[in-house]
Amino acid sequence: MSDRPVRTRIAPSPTGDMHIGTARTALFNWLYALHTGGKFLLRIEDTDRERSTPNAVQVIFDGLKWLGLEPDEEPVFQFTRADRHREVAMALLEKGAAYRDYMTPEELEAEREKARAEGRVIRSPWRDASPNDAPDRPFVVRLKTPQTGETVIDDQVKGRIVFQNANLDDLILLRTDGTPTYNLAVVVDDHDMGITHVIRGDDHISNAARQTHIYQAMGWEAPVWAHLPMIHGPDGKKLSKRHGAQAVSEFDAMGYLPEAMRNYLAKLGWGHGDDEIFSDEQAIAWFDIKDVVSAPARLDWDKLNHVNNHYIRQADPERLADLVEGILKSRDWQIASTDHEVLVRTIPLVRDGAKTLLELADACVFVIRKRPLELPEKARGLLTDETRARLSRLVERLQAATDWNVIELEALIRRFAEDEGVGIGKFGPALRAALSGGSPAPDLAGTLVALGREESFARLDDALSSGA
Ligand code: GLU
Repeated sequence: MSDRPVRTRIAPSPTGDMHIGTARTALFNWLYALHTGGKFLLRIEDTDRERSTPNAVQVIFDGLKWLGLEPDEEPVFQFTRADRHREVAMALLEKGAAYRDYMTPEELEAEREKARAEGRVIRSPWRDASPNDAPDRPFVVRLKTPQTGETVIDDQVKGRIVFQNANLDDLILLRTDGTPTYNLAVVVDDHDMGITHVIRGDDHISNAARQTHIYQAMGWEAPVWAHLPMIHGPDGKKLSKRHGAQAVSEFDAMGYLPEAMRNYLAKLGWGHGDDEIFSDEQAIAWFDIKDVVSAPARLDWDKLNHVNNHYIRQADPERLADLVEGILKSRDWQIASTDHEVLVRTIPLVRDGAKTLLELADACVFVIRKRPLELPEKARGLLTDETRARLSRLVERLQAATDWNVIELEALIRRFAEDEGVGIGKFGPALRAALSGGSPAPDLAGTLVALGREESFARLDDALSSGA
């Protein structure tokens, strides 16, 4: 193997979605590049002009940005390089490694029939014809693919894969309209971008054999190949719509953090022992493409949720507050300028149980509700005269509290219950309803701390004075 500096890439075709499999491919390329001190690049395979809209391309940029997997160099757009692809096809013609194939569509069809009947691949009579016999009609350019022997792909993930050359027809490089074919474009681009390791989905394994022939014909050094297994759904079937999310943007919308996605996706097909949680730095230090397993990986929502919960518990509350505000705004909640600070205070009190940012947002709703809260029927029912009187006494105690923190307030509420000679269950639910308006909220002390002194008293006052 050569000692060229490592350069990896992903080469997505814009489809309008960025599939989670593409995200994992990007991650593995990124990890390998960082692990080896190399570079991670992006090529947009935009030769399908109908699908490659600016929007579809933007989806890829956005997905990579969100995942934190941005390339080290400007992206390469494959379509803009068609002249260069043709130039290489011409060079192959000149070397005698490719030929012009003038078969008409009818002749090709007849050869196809014949080949099928004889159990072989199609062969063009033009492969060995003299250029002097060239007719004046459209042609494709085909590679003189080796017809005997084997092509061996020494795949870093799948192991040794052997292709019998007799089973491969002569690869078309240029179509009759002169447009380059996919395999030609990929090889020329990878070569020109200095790609040393092609790490991609295993749906491209047979292309690796085709592409090897082009490298050989040009006398170029082929990259190291690593073909990644598919991501399957929890049931072991190919990941599809019915398993829930597939696109990166869907995982974002479902409230997964990008660092959780990186951690979890790294576990899909690779891992470091039984470690569930590891940082980017650890993954970069440990990652080796040789350790990727060749069997398909299964998406496991419980594990993903577990990892996401871990990162939600670790994340900076300021950042989470911004994310939660975005979610609440999208649900048409009015966010006041003071709410940010309130959310920053609330998040550490409510995040332990949140598996996603959506759940975290749900858990924060109580604090951004605006007074006077409309208490649900059931909550109003809790506010009997007796309970109101008791809560008024509690308010007096709370007003005397010197420190407004969870430990202090918990103790205060406990002492109050003792002094009243009742369990907390006697007034706790009413207190909670008055403070939260019936939205989910943390324990009583946590709710008081999240709301802050002023808002807590205001809400209690609203509840105790209403309908009195
Ligand atoms: N454009 C191809 C795809 O989206 C990837 C080709 C490659 O990685 O070589 O599947």
